[in-house]
Amino acid sequence: MKAGIHPNYKMVQVTCACGNTFETGSVKKEIRVETCSECHPFYTGRQKFAEAGGRVDRFNKKYGLKDPNAQQQ
Ligand SMILES: [Zn+2]
Repeated sequence: MKAGIHPNYKMVQVTCACGNTFETGSVKKEIRVETCSECHPFYTGRQKFAEAGGRVDRFNKKYGLKDPNAQQQ
């Protein structure tokens, strides 16, 4: 390889929002991600994000609405 023109590819720590960390190769110093294979619903089989928010759900319960989409029609 030609010297001086290639980024320094090395092993770096990836930190996920769920607290999980793992190593991968990158030219960056560190990587922060919101979702990794430990917490993504596709891998866990859980619907984590559907439960996490819940603001629409609470609004609907508060005002006794069952299906907000039906009201708009
Ligand atoms: Zn994660």
